[in-house]
Amino acid sequence: MRLILLGPPGAGKGTQAKFICEHFHVPQISTGDMLRCAVKAGTQLGHQAKSIMDKGGLVSDDLIVGLVKERIASPDCQNGFLFDGFPRTIPQAEAIQSAGINIDAIVEISVSESIIINRITGRRIHMASGRTYHVECNPPKIPNQDDITGDPLIQREDDHEETVIRRLDEYRRLTAVLSDFYRQAANGPLFLRVDGNRSISDVTRDIMVGLSRLPTANDGH
Ligand code: ADP
Ligand code: ADP
Repeated sequence: MRLILLGPPGAGKGTQAKFICEHFHVPQISTGDMLRCAVKAGTQLGHQAKSIMDKGGLVSDDLIVGLVKERIASPDCQNGFLFDGFPRTIPQAEAIQSAGINIDAIVEISVSESIIINRITGRRIHMASGRTYHVECNPPKIPNQDDITGDPLIQREDDHEETVIRRLDEYRRLTAVLSDFYRQAANGPLFLRVDGNRSISDVTRDIMVGLSRLPTANDGH
C-alpha cells in the first residue's frame, strides 16, 4: 500500500495521515516532520533547510529525494507507506517514478484558501510525534498539552500569516500541477479527490470509502 497525500498547506494532510496509517498499518513519511527533526537536532541538513523553511520556500529537490529514498529503504516501509507533503514538485514526482517506486493511490484534499489561514495560524503540534491540534477546531484535552504524552505543544515557526501566504504561492506555483500529473499518467494510481472543507471525521470517512476500492486495501487485516 503506497499512498500519497496531496493538498495545500493546512488542508489536513497530517491530521488525516494519522488515521490512514493506523488503518493500513503503514508508516507516515512526512518530509516536513523529518526536516523539522533535522533542524531541531542541528544536523547539516537541518542547517541547510532552516532558513528556506522559515521563509516559506521549498527545500531543494535533490536533498528531499535523497532523504525520502533513504527513509523508504527502512524495513518498516516494506509493506508500504504514506507520503505526506511529498512529492511537492514535478522533479520530485519524476524521481520516485524513475526509481521504480509505484504508487497505488493519490488522495488529494482540497480546501478553499479562505479557511487555510485560520487553520494554520491555529495549528499546534507535538514535535516528537507530529500529532497536530487546532486551538478551536481540534483542541487537545488539556490546553497546550499533547493528549498522549502530556508534553507541551508548540506553534511552528512558519505558521504565521506572512509565511503562510508565501507557502500558498509556492503551492500554486510548483505543487498544484501534481494533481494533473497523476491524473493524466497512463496506468496511473487511483486518484481520489476529497472535499476537505468539512469536519475531520467527514473527511476521514470519504478517504476510507475511496481507498476501500483498492485491491490491496484489505491486505494485512
Ligand atoms: P497539513 O498537514 O495539510 O498542513 P494539518 O493536518 O496540519 O494540515 O491541519 C492544519 C490545521 O487544521 C491543524 O491545526 C488541524 O488540527 C486543523 N484541521 C485539519 N483538518 C481539519 C478539518 N477538517 N476541520 C477543521 N480543522 C482541521
Ligand atoms: P504543511 O504541513 O504546512 O504543508 P510541511 O510540514 O509539509 O508543511 O512542510 C514545511 C516546510 O518544509 C515547507 O514549507 C518546505 O519548506 C519544507 N518541505 C517539506 N516537504 C518538502 C518537499 N517535499 N519539498 C521541498 N520542501 C519541503
